[in-house]
Amino acid sequence: MSVITEKNTFLNFLDGKWVASQSGDMVKVTNPADVRDIVGYVQNSTAEDTDRAVAAAHKAKTSWRKLTGAERGRYLYKAADIMERRLEEIAASATREMGKTLPEAKGETARGIAILRYYAGEGMRKTGDVIPSTDKDALMFTDRVPLGVVGVITPWNFPIAIPLWKMAPALIYGNTIVIKPATETAVTCAKIISCFEEAGLPPGVMNFITGRGAVVGQRLAAHENVNGITFTGSNQTGKMIGQTALKRGAKYQLEMGGKNPVIVADDADLEAAAEAVITGAFLSTGQKCTATSRVIIQSGIYDRFKEKLLQRTKEITIGDSLQEDVWMGPISSKNQLDNCLSYIEKGRQEGASLLIGGEKPEGEKYQNGYFIEPAIFENVKTGMTIAQEEIFGPVIALLKVDTLKEALDIANDVKYGLSASIFTENIGSMLSFIDDIEAGLVRVNAESAGVELQAPFGGMKQSSSHSREQGEAAKDFFTAIKTVFIKPS
Ligand code: NAD
Repeated sequence: MSVITEKNTFLNFLDGKWVASQSGDMVKVTNPADVRDIVGYVQNSTAEDTDRAVAAAHKAKTSWRKLTGAERGRYLYKAADIMERRLEEIAASATREMGKTLPEAKGETARGIAILRYYAGEGMRKTGDVIPSTDKDALMFTDRVPLGVVGVITPWNFPIAIPLWKMAPALIYGNTIVIKPATETAVTCAKIISCFEEAGLPPGVMNFITGRGAVVGQRLAAHENVNGITFTGSNQTGKMIGQTALKRGAKYQLEMGGKNPVIVADDADLEAAAEAVITGAFLSTGQKCTATSRVIIQSGIYDRFKEKLLQRTKEITIGDSLQEDVWMGPISSKNQLDNCLSYIEKGRQEGASLLIGGEKPEGEKYQNGYFIEPAIFENVKTGMTIAQEEIFGPVIALLKVDTLKEALDIANDVKYGLSASIFTENIGSMLSFIDDIEAGLVRVNAESAGVELQAPFGGMKQSSSHSREQGEAAKDFFTAIKTVFIKPS
């Protein structure tokens, strides 16, 4: 039995106050590298707690909307400064909760700070256009106005950046928020919320509530006073949320899975391509929506390239992500680990050849965590499960092709369309890849997993509900357009 102390108990943040759930129940959050390490206890909230959070956001929405963008921006700049001061603490919390290495978590925290500053500046930028009217005496223009209350539902894999790339634009464009993070990383999210509290954000503008997706998340999606829902997570959950929001006419935004290909052409820089495949596939233990999961290789360089990947994979150090010499941490939860192992088994059963990894590593230091060796399959056919479904773990499938046309057909032969990359020196191959690939993020001579906060981010096909996040594109979701026509009387 573990002891619950005040220090490791994290409450909901409703209407400017930290409060316990009325359920009186809490959920234990543990370190996936060593489950004996308890990161904290978070509230197992109820639908009624969720209603209270929505009521607080609803009450605050008019006064928040009436501030100028510059005034709202000042809170974001302040929160960014506070997060910068607390960078080490927040990054260590993310590492302990979900297992990405400390340098990765620090990078993500720094990105979160940059996102806050980017959107703080957005408060001073234009919110509309003047459009010439056919009536010479009239003035016609558009103005962007907030949706009202926005529900934010986030996954565990980017516990800092994803909440912030949703909350920062929601706030700057004048919305109030109720956020429900994944329980696995709710402690890190509570720390982020406390930075806004310290920045003096008015009560009710940002509300934080933890609990089960099917209870809290579902209530948020269904609540009549939630005007928009922004979600990142699995396809299954996303589709349910979309349907719930659609039924009551609320705006929704879904960012979901990927099955991202990297094409390696005969003329590619093989060193650069191998490095990009390894980092794209195995950093964050493969748990990025943009992670490389299919490597489509032209036959002329197949054997040489495969050897490079194997060599690089053998060098990967696995272990507790807080340790400096560790390159790849554990999988985030038992559930995810079991899922990953079952895909590996399926790959074997369907006739693919496992070249390396795919086992739980042996040794005392791995005993209490959810570790797995990075895995590479070959002899993979495009119809196989491991070439079609998102595994969300450190597993890649190698597919051999003769031509780039064949490579493109395979790259597009999945239901997802998030990110895709090609390695080639040939400008013609680059251009046909850019033209024909079905993906929202198209990368040339770069890994599949790179995202820049000032550029639109999102997928095609079943990876997204076809809106975009980040950069200026975020404005489209978090605002509604008013078209104004004024004729002097
Ligand atoms: P998930 O769908 O299980 O959970 C995401 C969030 O939804 C969590 O907060 C969860 O509690 C909540 N939820 C669960 N059931 C719900 C319900 N019935 N109603 C409302 N909310 C509910 O996903 P996950 O396992 O946390 O994250 C992994 C997935 O996220 C992967 O598929 C990955 O590709 C995807 N992802 C996508 C992006 C992107 O931007 N495209 C980024 C990161 C992760």
